[in-house]
Amino acid sequence: MCQLDVDSGVSVKSLLTYFNFHLITYVQHDMEISQIFLKKNNIPFTVMINNVQELLVREREEMVHNAEMERKSKSFNFAAYHDLETIYSFMDTLVASHSNLISKVNIGRTYENRTMYVLKFSTGGVKKPAIWIDAGIHAREWISHATAVWLADRIATDFMGNRAPVPSILSHMDIFLMIVANPDGYVFTHLSPNPHYRLWRKSRSATSNPKCPGVDLNRNWDAEFGGPGASDDPCAEDYRGPSAQSEIEVKNIVDFIMNHGNFKSFITIHSYMQLLMYPYGYSGTDAPDQPELHDVATSASKALNSWHGTVYKVGSIFHTIKPASGASVDWAYLRGIKYSFAFELRDTGRYGFLLPADQIVSTARETWFALRYIMKYVCDHPY
Ligand SMILES: [Zn+2]
Repeated sequence: MCQLDVDSGVSVKSLLTYFNFHLITYVQHDMEISQIFLKKNNIPFTVMINNVQELLVREREEMVHNAEMERKSKSFNFAAYHDLETIYSFMDTLVASHSNLISKVNIGRTYENRTMYVLKFSTGGVKKPAIWIDAGIHAREWISHATAVWLADRIATDFMGNRAPVPSILSHMDIFLMIVANPDGYVFTHLSPNPHYRLWRKSRSATSNPKCPGVDLNRNWDAEFGGPGASDDPCAEDYRGPSAQSEIEVKNIVDFIMNHGNFKSFITIHSYMQLLMYPYGYSGTDAPDQPELHDVATSASKALNSWHGTVYKVGSIFHTIKPASGASVDWAYLRGIKYSFAFELRDTGRYGFLLPADQIVSTARETWFALRYIMKYVCDHPY
């Protein structure tokens, strides 16, 4: 069967309400069936990727080749995708070489008993105002993990090199960066270059349906949980889970942020569609800070655009993608973390979740332009 490929997990039914949309078909036969269906129903469409399986195999071959090169050269290649183990070992290396700035915080374990780590960038002090950044809450969005890896290195090198605005931000605030927010899902995407694995979105917890494991971790937060844009069907891509924060991965992050108590910004990194969004996702009503959030996001997207000319759309989640209840940025905003933003990185559908690794560094670099604008703004506007 065919599957909608934007980061929303929408059903085929709601898909039909879209004028332009993207489909992923895994094999030629599916594609032919889909095209007949679309033509019959007079739905406009474009074929973006002819053979996903071919791309998946190529991606896997590149990773194997890269791992071999990294072993030989004993160096980390930012222009490659990595598995969880390699990302965790990268974090250890980064912490070891910047122990004056970075520490690794264990915030709990996943459903499958993996450790969840956050990198803390701090120049000292207790519970300074802080910025939260996470990536990879949706497992298949590999460009988000790869971008976060690059960002971790960039924050460290800019601090060491005394390059503005990082040192001044870090003199007032701490930055917490979680590179892999859904470790179980991420490991699952690496098990095989088969679309069932590589395009997995959810966590890996058991549900009420033994055939359909996994919860959409970005529909499980206590923010209008069970509202629009989240499914109660365990087999759905956007299955919200049985109750708010039922998922241990979400609970670990919630507990960490609430125990800290002084976060001023919450930024989550997804792919794809090239969007920079702010609350709300669950409602089309403007958030009280909408004008300011819109201005910040607009300036950040201009900064991003200045590097490679990549065009981002700015707006609330509800209005730019679709209604989504139980999302993390809404949760953060409703808990008083005003500067809450969600990125959807490259691209707009040419490769979708299978963005070639040779676009990692350029994607990360342009994202950095937007991110550092937001971080500086947050630092300059205490509340
Ligand atoms: Zn996502």
